[in-house]
Amino acid sequence: MCCSEKTAIFDMDGTLFQSETVALPAFRRAFMRLREEGLYRGDPPSDGEIQSVFGMTQEEIWSRLLPEADEGARKRADRWTLEEELAGLRRGEGRLYPGVAETLRRLKAEGWRLFIASNGLRSYLDGVLETFRLSPLFTGVYGAGDHGTETKEELVRMLMEEHGVTGGFMVGDRKSDVRAGKAGPVPLHLRDAHYSGAKKLGHGKEYIYAHDVPHAIAAQQYLPDELAGRRYYEPRPRGLERDIGTRLERIREILDGEM
Ligand SMILES: [Mg+2]
Repeated sequence: MCCSEKTAIFDMDGTLFQSETVALPAFRRAFMRLREEGLYRGDPPSDGEIQSVFGMTQEEIWSRLLPEADEGARKRADRWTLEEELAGLRRGEGRLYPGVAETLRRLKAEGWRLFIASNGLRSYLDGVLETFRLSPLFTGVYGAGDHGTETKEELVRMLMEEHGVTGGFMVGDRKSDVRAGKAGPVPLHLRDAHYSGAKKLGHGKEYIYAHDVPHAIAAQQYLPDELAGRRYYEPRPRGLERDIGTRLERIREILDGEM
């Protein structure tokens, strides 16, 4: 995505919000509770270990911090942590990074559309935004935990589609944020056409099923617009790659004839 459109998509943890201000005590309390309930033995994770999971999806967090626990224990740990985080926010323990509130207000006043795309849950994100009275500044708040997306790219794509975003800025603190900012939208005809409302968005329209066409080779665009035409594999002229090269040449001839 780039850059003339006045749209900014922000990550939350470690970007706008100093997550450790409420998350560290919340994780510590959740682990105490897990121990009390006999769901966890041994020493709780260190602050460093806890901090290393900030910004990850719920699934990633608990597979790291509770690798041996079952789904039920992980779910409870997740719920307790969220409850503790929200309680910490209500007690006024959370902190934004310096200048965040002022910057967001100024961007909004200058006509920017602002979004949140976070791996957290919507209730947590709303808790943070409401605590600092920032909710009215945002056009959309997206939490991966509620949308069932596995990566930040997927979440940002969904946001872009639903709000007709075609450019702008992605602001975040992790590699996944950078990747999400670079990933262009998947061509419409290749997108999931199954969930309700997908057809209305044009998903799956004019998709060509390769096996329905001669040679089972469909001349359609698979890459996002900004990558269209790029070649990622050029076989070398030796061994098996020589055969693949011959085949690929033939496929490209067929496609060149049709596109
Ligand atoms: Mg983050």
